Amino acid sequence: MRAMVLEAVGAPLALRQRSDPEPGRGEIRVRVAACGVCRTDLHVVDGELPDIRVPIVPGHEIVGRVDRVGPGVEGFSLGERVGIPWLGHTCGRCPYCRSGRENLCDAPGFTGYTRDGGYAELATADARYAFPLGEAGDDAELAPLLCAGLIGWRSLCKAGEGERLGLYGFGAAAHLVAQAAKAQGRRIFAFTRPGDLAAQTFARSLGAAWAGGSDEPAPEPLDAAIIYAPVGALVPEALKAVRKGGRVVCAGIHMSDIPSFPYAVLWGERELVSVANLTRQDGLDFLAFAETAGIRAEVVRYPLVQANEALADLREGRLQGAAVLVP
Ligand SMILES: [Zn+2]
Ligand SMILES: [Zn+2]
Repeated sequence: MRAMVLEAVGAPLALRQRSDPEPGRGEIRVRVAACGVCRTDLHVVDGELPDIRVPIVPGHEIVGRVDRVGPGVEGFSLGERVGIPWLGHTCGRCPYCRSGRENLCDAPGFTGYTRDGGYAELATADARYAFPLGEAGDDAELAPLLCAGLIGWRSLCKAGEGERLGLYGFGAAAHLVAQAAKAQGRRIFAFTRPGDLAAQTFARSLGAAWAGGSDEPAPEPLDAAIIYAPVGALVPEALKAVRKGGRVVCAGIHMSDIPSFPYAVLWGERELVSVANLTRQDGLDFLAFAETAGIRAEVVRYPLVQANEALADLREGRLQGAAVLVP
């Protein structure tokens, strides 16, 4: 099979011909139909996450069809369309796993980070962490739901039920969360890179009540804000934008350092929290909600061999919505 492989941190991905992976016990193998490009992939390629082992095939928003089933797998049939998300494995034994918080597992595995992911023609996965996707919807348009959508959903739930919701960084996650939040009857305030008028227009087209630069004050106090951009300086800005008792959720896996700020910015029972990974229940909940609410990803397709171009466009903020690799 062909795969785009990270062979050294910071290096471009290399197109490699590899032997087809075989599914082990409890695993399925899928023929990849689409794999979304997530900001976390940039953090992997750039070595911003701990303990990256190379070579590794990135990619954790995989849509594909089961083409081989390992021993001991139940519930999946050949040809079935499935989604493979970031959460690739959990231990099932640690205090977090045993209390319904497998997203915080002490010994997890992650697709495209600790095990090979979907920037390839074939990928294997622990079947227990794959989601059946059914036949409705386009492969490429479903792919971003598997991380941008799922972790976006977890961050939206974590934001509480306030009506006025700020979204900092209007990329793949925010453009899906905006649709979900609108379906819940909330009003969206989209904060983009200063001067990024294209992203602001995109946000308004998805129903944002207001869109502006992250250097602008919110037009009214927000009930909650979610930060998707990996920019620590946005944390005090978002805290200033939320009302007393409001909450700021940091949704990314990596962020630049947060600058110090006066305590008054946090005071008034404002809360600052982070969101990590996903649980399988998050996935089931969100995929059902997305289908009912008609949430659709806006995608830019790249051939698999142009993964480096897709990553560069994401890094430079040159695309609206989500980049997706297709074979
Ligand atoms: Zn665990
Ligand atoms: Zn991701």
